[in-house]
Amino acid sequence: MSIISDSLKRIKPSPTIAVTQKARELREAGKDVIGLGAGEPDFDTPDNIKDAAIHAIRNGDTKYTAVDGTPVLKKAIVEKFKRENNLDFKTNQITVGTGGKQVLYNAFMATLNKGDEVIIPAPFWVSYPDMVLLAGGKPKIVKCDEKDGFKLTAKKLKKAISKKTKWLILNSPSNPTGAGYTKNEIEDIAKVLIKNKKVYILSDDIYEHIKYDNFDFFTIAQISKLKNRTLTMNGVSKSYAMTGWRIGYAAGPKDIIKAIGKIQSQSTSNPSSISQAAAVEALNGTQNFIQERSNAFKERRDFVVKSLNSIKGISCLTPNGAFYVFPSCKGLLNKKTKLKTDTDFVQKLLEKANVAVVQGSAFGLDGYFRISYATSMENLKKAMERIKSFCDSLS
Ligand code: PLP
Repeated sequence: MSIISDSLKRIKPSPTIAVTQKARELREAGKDVIGLGAGEPDFDTPDNIKDAAIHAIRNGDTKYTAVDGTPVLKKAIVEKFKRENNLDFKTNQITVGTGGKQVLYNAFMATLNKGDEVIIPAPFWVSYPDMVLLAGGKPKIVKCDEKDGFKLTAKKLKKAISKKTKWLILNSPSNPTGAGYTKNEIEDIAKVLIKNKKVYILSDDIYEHIKYDNFDFFTIAQISKLKNRTLTMNGVSKSYAMTGWRIGYAAGPKDIIKAIGKIQSQSTSNPSSISQAAAVEALNGTQNFIQERSNAFKERRDFVVKSLNSIKGISCLTPNGAFYVFPSCKGLLNKKTKLKTDTDFVQKLLEKANVAVVQGSAFGLDGYFRISYATSMENLKKAMERIKSFCDSLS
């Protein structure tokens, strides 16, 4: 009898973390590898946020806090939703966890029974299906086409809903494609959900602030008929360059929020008191650097998209947000190149050109790869040159 549980056997380690780890190992072995796999801003946490954390330590905010977040952080989150999304929540509709990842995981653990289905549009963030599996649910993957900007359409959603569907996950702007849903697109999807009356919506808004070209961010809880069936998840990791601080939060129906708190009370308890104090400053303090950083990301996005589209065999859409592009490598998968799959492509790219990216199949869509451009322009320039000469060498 195996010591490892059956539920753990259903899942695999995160492939994006695996690529980052592989690139790190190769670098440590002396190879000049450029890692374009990591999903975190290369910028540092702003000083006002760091100062708030130092103050919290000196002030003795070093004890357990309320399990699902301090009252002051919950108040800052309520104000954020009002200020930025015109959404009204009470503090008992807010929960705070150790990163958005924990909030999502707890939400599935709190709501899924064996066999319950969760609709996950692909390409998807790698953790969604495995979290659903761990919680005993069934991921229902719906492939979204490049011609639809990799976004779920109302028609596809309608077809995917069954009697067992409990949740639909929406992630905009998206990891891995950077695609953002417009208000019209969300309204189309909402029509199906309003008619259906049952399915809950998990909106992952973690990339809300990283957006370009005046893209108007819209979140599905803003559709009043769906607000009481929507759990809106967000956090400080990406917007405020605070990935290591581990603070994420969600707002939604009181019963789900309470159930998430119950799991947290018997597992990790409160997220770090110091990180919570820092998150209060992130949400209440100056927001100026967000635009500055988005401008820097936009410059990189434009450079990367242009460079990729100049390579024979590669084509790349221009995303509205996040810091990822999701180019197609289908033009290079053939007998002549001896590459059959996107995994072959990324493995050879790492081996021959020392550039680490992640294969599209890890995100549920074959024939593509993900590049994170959250790294310096200098690195990106070098990486694009290497990718170009690697692809040129194949033909
Ligand atoms: N959701 C998406 C789409 C992400 O890309 C990530 C991080 O990579 C998360 C959620 C979780 O973020 P964190 O746990 O750092 O708050």
